[in-house]
Amino acid sequence: MKNSIFKSICLAATGVFLASLLLIMSILYTYFSDIQLETLKKQTELVSVAVQDQGISFLKKIDNKDFRITLIESDGDVLYDTVSPADSMENHLGREEIREALAKGYGESTRYSSTLLERQIYTAKLLPDGTVIRLSETHYSVLSLILMMTQPIAIVAVIAAVLSLILASRLSEKIIKPLNELNIDKPELKDSYEELKPLIERINSQQRQLKSQSAELRRKQEEFNAATYNMNEGIVLLNETGTILSINHSASKILSASKYCIGKDILLVNRSIEIQNLLNKAQSGEHADVMMNINGLEYQINASPVVSDDSISGIALIIFDITEKEKAEQMRREFSANVSHELKTPLHSISGYAELMKNGLVKENDIVSFSSRIYSEAQRMIVLVDDIIKLSRLDEGTYDMELEETDLFAVAHETVDILKPAADAKNLTVTLNGGSSKIYGFPQLLNGLVYNLCDNAIKYNRQNGSVDITVIQDNNKTILTVSDNGIGIPKEHQERIFERFYRVDKSHSKEVGGTGLGLSIVKHAARLHDAEIKLESVPDGGTTISVIFPEKSLL
Ligand code: ADP
Repeated sequence: MKNSIFKSICLAATGVFLASLLLIMSILYTYFSDIQLETLKKQTELVSVAVQDQGISFLKKIDNKDFRITLIESDGDVLYDTVSPADSMENHLGREEIREALAKGYGESTRYSSTLLERQIYTAKLLPDGTVIRLSETHYSVLSLILMMTQPIAIVAVIAAVLSLILASRLSEKIIKPLNELNIDKPELKDSYEELKPLIERINSQQRQLKSQSAELRRKQEEFNAATYNMNEGIVLLNETGTILSINHSASKILSASKYCIGKDILLVNRSIEIQNLLNKAQSGEHADVMMNINGLEYQINASPVVSDDSISGIALIIFDITEKEKAEQMRREFSANVSHELKTPLHSISGYAELMKNGLVKENDIVSFSSRIYSEAQRMIVLVDDIIKLSRLDEGTYDMELEETDLFAVAHETVDILKPAADAKNLTVTLNGGSSKIYGFPQLLNGLVYNLCDNAIKYNRQNGSVDITVIQDNNKTILTVSDNGIGIPKEHQERIFERFYRVDKSHSKEVGGTGLGLSIVKHAARLHDAEIKLESVPDGGTTISVIFPEKSLL
């Protein structure tokens, strides 16, 4: 900018200088031409007087190369010439100044001399004897004028050039300085010159507009962030090329993205093939979704193109955690397969025994034994179906059950009574300790929980073993502990025994009438009461299972 201002000023100065030179030269040229003609006219007058007085001898005495004197007869013949011999010169009657002098007494003209090849001025005067005296001189040409004035012109040009360079430099500096010093963020009128004021006012008004727009944007962004911060779903907004514009807390956590990821490409955060395909589809205007495993959890990611003015201006990604859903789905699938499998075995046995009896292949004496096998298989099926129904109900939730004040000690007492025959069959010592401990819970579920724990303590016990049941309140918590000194559970199975249909020793479990669902029911019931389960078990040493009901379950 500074350079172009400087160049323009220099160019303008040069233009002005050349134009002035041209004008001055043309004025000088006219002025000098007039003076030259006037001088020649006066000299012609003087020479004519001298020639009248002294005749041709006067002319012969003149030795001046600056101008030429010619004496011409009235018929045009040259009598004498100061430059060329008279007899070599042609008749001059045709010359304009001669004709004019002969007619009017005085004549003048300017033309190229064919003899001298220069522009000449001629003045001629008619003498009383009829002859004509003519003076001629080389006319100043523009070039000769310039050559004459070369030195002063050069001096003026140098001074003008130096002055215009200094002025141009100062002027451009002066114009540019306020622009350079202008604080765009906060331009002030007092720091500049008049012509900049409209620009500064415009900048100021645009600054105000920008400020209010960015405040509005910030407010909207904050609103959006506040709304999305606590959402479980991850939300990522991208521009059309995949650069992250906004990302909420959940999405940052899921994608392990740092807070500096804004402004970076999403593929720098996660470059999985699934995300790339998702982006490609969204960029071509399609809605797409994909299931992805990230850090061991299952997610569903939906991508929707954001369309404005018929073109895609961005992409919105929404990430759902579907781990629980997937797990539940998986469990349901496994559960159905297990249920069919568990029911198939007793049904086959029943059908086999019944077929034998139907075909009369069973001896009279064995009929009772066969019938009792059919009965016990049917009983097993009933227990199994009963447990399946209980679990299915638990899966559906507690909406059809009502919370009631329940004394866990009383529940344990009842259970001990119910299970007494089974305990007696093994000659077990069952003790119930503690006292009344009321909690706010679902009685049906609590019954099932206590029953299954006590039932297992008896089922997986040895002859003459012992079972200790304690219900106490400690630190505002109600703790139910069922302890036995039975067969115990090996370490590697302890984690899994709460899974549906999981049994440490399948044949032993079946032998003692287990379904593999008892502890699943316990786990479910505990969860619905926010209770915590603790298991300690030593193979051949015994098992202790505690259920700790939290404070809020207390009355
Ligand atoms: P089941 O109907 O087979 O008893 P559970 O879900 O109640 O099913 O128990 C799962 C498995 O855990 C049992 O098959 C058994 O192997 C083991 N188990 C449960 N309780 C005890 C216990 N008190 N002592 C030893 N093993 C136990």
